Amino acid sequence: MFLGHYGVGLAAKKVAPKTSLGTLWFAALFLDLIWPIFLLAGIERVEIDPGNTLVTPFDFVSYPFSHSLLAAFGWSFLLAGVYWLIRRDASGTAIIGLLVISHWVLDALVHRPDLPLYPGSSRMAGLGLWNSWRDTLLLEGVIFAWGVAVYRSATRPRDAVGKYAFRTLMFFLVLVYIGSLVGPPPPSSQYVAIMALGQWLMVLWAYWVDRHREAVH
Ligand SMILES: [Zn+2]
Repeated sequence: MFLGHYGVGLAAKKVAPKTSLGTLWFAALFLDLIWPIFLLAGIERVEIDPGNTLVTPFDFVSYPFSHSLLAAFGWSFLLAGVYWLIRRDASGTAIIGLLVISHWVLDALVHRPDLPLYPGSSRMAGLGLWNSWRDTLLLEGVIFAWGVAVYRSATRPRDAVGKYAFRTLMFFLVLVYIGSLVGPPPPSSQYVAIMALGQWLMVLWAYWVDRHREAVH
């Protein structure tokens, strides 16, 4: 799942208007933000395996600390707790916690059964929508379009940056996603990890955009 995580974070702005889109994305993407770090550290493993599912050439061999359900709950409580300590905003805190969990749920829709329930578990979750182009594109497209529409109606640009940097960011994400679908499989798992680290830049971009927009009351 790629665009869907961004879409859910965008839509969350409606119920957490005081929280920056950067923070909302940080929570919605968090499992994928730490995953490349665990990959590079050799703690988790992915292999390039074209045909593993129809849509993605990845074999997620092991990712218990970033992508097991139990770990997702742990990260959810941690991020929500930190947010609470900084902001003392109960509804924002709840949204942050839910966004972290939403990542695992969305991943469980598209992955084949490779998401462990807890580290060491042999019980795996995954409905495998990645085996259908139609279902994958529909799910990613609908959630993302919904998120963009909700964020656009919940905020308005303060200036040209709020308008054009936002549009550019949305187009860029769609382009990156299409590129990942039509491009050749990545050359190595290390390459995958480094590309995945690029998602941190999307979070920073979102902080910038969000500062140039204001909530509509
Ligand atoms: Zn993920």
